Amino acid sequence: MENNQSDRYRADRQEMVKHQIAGRGLKDERLLAAFEAVPRHLFVPEEYRHQAYADSPLPIGYGQTISQPYIVAFMTHLLDLKGHERVLEVGTGSGYQAAILAHLAAEVHTVEIIPELYEQARRVLAELGYQNVHCHLADGSLGWPEVAPYDSILVTAAAPAAPQTLLNQLAEGGRLVIPVGGRAYQELEVWQRVKGKFKQRTSLGVAFVPLRGKHGWRVW
Ligand code: SAM
Repeated sequence: MENNQSDRYRADRQEMVKHQIAGRGLKDERLLAAFEAVPRHLFVPEEYRHQAYADSPLPIGYGQTISQPYIVAFMTHLLDLKGHERVLEVGTGSGYQAAILAHLAAEVHTVEIIPELYEQARRVLAELGYQNVHCHLADGSLGWPEVAPYDSILVTAAAPAAPQTLLNQLAEGGRLVIPVGGRAYQELEVWQRVKGKFKQRTSLGVAFVPLRGKHGWRVW
């Protein structure tokens, strides 16, 4: 997976992990190793490549963004992955979050609604050799029922509420992490299915682009 291009950014990537992720309290070794392994610069458009390891989100075209590294790390941390899980991501975007998940879980299904982003992410993930990531072009607000249930579901766009359709695709003990709120501000909600019932708690404040589709925003 490494090439000269990736090597050029290795020091930047290590700095990112040290200061932006571990430095803010996320110290799990598997998590940190995943962020050291994934060449984030290959998931951003060429004109932003030099900023790929900066402490901020970046545009990826079509009005969408790749999230700030710390937010990707924090949401991944909330899933508490051990390695055996089947994970669903809603909002493939660049494919970066899916690549991180691929290092930490057994199987990743990621759904994108914009055809160009789906194609681009699928190509980069394939070029990097991620065989446990499966990309789908669809309305992810409906989940991906074909291979449900999932141990973890991660939504990377802001929803008006946690869709029941997604909660229903959680396995027993499974978790859903989703930003819920309005245009300027949302909160990460963490849902868990325990003995057939759903428990919910609220975590960090965030700012995501809107979730579209049947259970997303019609008017933002
Ligand atoms: N996880 C991405 C990454 O690592 O680059 C960033 C995701 S970006 C903040 C949000 C993405 O959600 C956009 O690519 C957008 O097109 C997608 N999206 C919005 N509504 C969606 C839906 N209903 N189904 C699937 N994808 C959706």
